[in-house]
Amino acid sequence: MQLPEALPKKEHVLVIDDTPPNLHLLISMLTRRGYDVRGVSDGLTALSTMQEELPDLVLLDINMPNMNGFQVCKQLKSSEHTHDIPVIFISARDEVLDKIQAFAVGGVDYITKPFQIAEVLARVENQLALRRLQRQLQEQNERLKQEIDSRIIAENLLQQANEKLGQLVNLDGLTQLANRRRFDEYLEQEWQRLARENLPLSLIMCDIDFFKNYNDTYGHVAGDDCLRKVSLLIKESVRRPADLVARYGGEEFVLVLPNTDIEGAMAIAETIRLGLLELVIPHEDSAISKLVTLSMGVTSLVPLFDSQPSVLLTTADYALYRAKELGRNQTYQIG
Ligand code: GH3
Ligand code: MG
Ligand code: MG
Repeated sequence: MQLPEALPKKEHVLVIDDTPPNLHLLISMLTRRGYDVRGVSDGLTALSTMQEELPDLVLLDINMPNMNGFQVCKQLKSSEHTHDIPVIFISARDEVLDKIQAFAVGGVDYITKPFQIAEVLARVENQLALRRLQRQLQEQNERLKQEIDSRIIAENLLQQANEKLGQLVNLDGLTQLANRRRFDEYLEQEWQRLARENLPLSLIMCDIDFFKNYNDTYGHVAGDDCLRKVSLLIKESVRRPADLVARYGGEEFVLVLPNTDIEGAMAIAETIRLGLLELVIPHEDSAISKLVTLSMGVTSLVPLFDSQPSVLLTTADYALYRAKELGRNQTYQIG
């Protein structure tokens, strides 16, 4: 069996009037118009019925015993719960001052008795239509706020992901040092800067001695572990923020040392080479030692605009070759 479609919810009007004929007339005419109507004859009862169910609109008499319409309206407007319910005063008092007070306490409209049925219905419908629009606007605002919030969250996530990606693009996965890409970029940048400032730029190339034998003896996992130890040692041997340590290739590392002359670069290279000996990493199958050792090529120059950073690389590479040739576990300098 098909269920009937749910009817739109009827709007709920509360009528407060201490004169029974008025109250009955208003109730029956509003009910006939299709509203869900409740009527009470005094302010206190009205306020207590609102604890149970909130009306969409209140039609309020002014002259009533105990609590008059102005006092009832003031109470409604002072509570966050009932603040937004529109109140239309309906009264036999036709003084301008009464009307002014009705608006001053928060009423939205004023109807004088004896009233015309059509006028009451028109004014009630008018206020309810305003209220509906207000609610729609509030809902739209709420939706917009939520959309803005989720957009901000999405943008933050995207930014974090981009930063992470930027780091990954520049990092070597095994050692967490800068990778070759970052090294090339940084060398080019510092080459230009130091050419402008007419200051020295040094490069150190390091290569682990007989590392193929190390892998063959201890296996690749131990080899990787050794690469990480050497990386950490090199990283901890430089202090200036402008110094860059990168993994140049398999078991080769390179240091870019801006504003550093050949003596400074030699001192750093020797610190690294001797620091590795202090780590005492055994290497049974090395032809020159019982420990893992490094050979280093060091060079330094003041960059010129009309030359390329590859000059520095070729020279450091040749210095490293000489260190190997002269017996390994040593530092050779050119410059
Ligand atoms: P030399 O003293 O002349 O430098 O000899 P070498 O054996 O160190 O040099 P060679 O270039 O012949 O071999 C380098 C070896 O480094 C080859 C490879 O087994 C090892 N290697 C390169 N990259 C990695 C890596 O990521 N992990 C490990 N475990 N080993 C690597
Ligand atoms: Mg090598
Ligand atoms: Mg090697």
